[in-house]
Amino acid sequence: MNNTLTFHIYQKKYEEYLKRLDERRDDITIYVTDLVGCYEKFAFNKKIPFFNYNDIFLHGDLIHEGITKILKDIFGDKVEFNKTLTYEDTFPCKFRLKGVPDIIHHDWKEIIEIKSIVKIPQKPLEHHIKQLALYLALYEATEGKEYNGRLVYISRDDFKEYVFDFRNLLGRLKGEGYIASEIDYFISNKPCPRYEWECNYCPYREICQIKNLKAFNTPITDLTDEEED
Ligand code: SF4
Repeated sequence: MNNTLTFHIYQKKYEEYLKRLDERRDDITIYVTDLVGCYEKFAFNKKIPFFNYNDIFLHGDLIHEGITKILKDIFGDKVEFNKTLTYEDTFPCKFRLKGVPDIIHHDWKEIIEIKSIVKIPQKPLEHHIKQLALYLALYEATEGKEYNGRLVYISRDDFKEYVFDFRNLLGRLKGEGYIASEIDYFISNKPCPRYEWECNYCPYREICQIKNLKAFNTPITDLTDEEED
């Protein structure tokens, strides 16, 4: 029996993953994290779900757990953690959008997303802002409350926070309108990949035709890093 701490954490994460497997594969469920990424990866995930967990995720989870405990001690029932938000609609297609924001802070009227990262970026990253905006939209659509958003970046030696106003982030749209426009963009445009760097971290990169076709179409000179002696 493997009795390391890491083994038990991985096993717990795997059990959580198995619990969500059926809905991961159904035809209508989309997670917020799907919606801010590559459409092809989302499609692969429906057909060949992949337990995508590693030490980088483990490190992030441990930071989340630490912050969760501290905030619970300070704010008690005023904060909620990892609450699953679910919104269903039939426009622009039949869908069920699910999202699990890190923290809902009822005292501050904020939804807080924590990002542990190797190097803190100069400005908030687009896909992180979009993810936060979708959480605000989901919360408004399900609870009828316009909370602001807070993005917290944590690296080994630095810490940075950005606060976003609900209206500035969602424009003139309310939660339902914002969700519908993002779902419509995702299913109509099928962005693959949404960002070039996604392919490097994608569990389906070996079998993905889009990635392989791109590599195939790249001139050989661009694929060669070093000249041979
Ligand atoms: S390899 Fe790239 S294009 Fe293919 S599914 Fe993954 S992220 Fe998308």
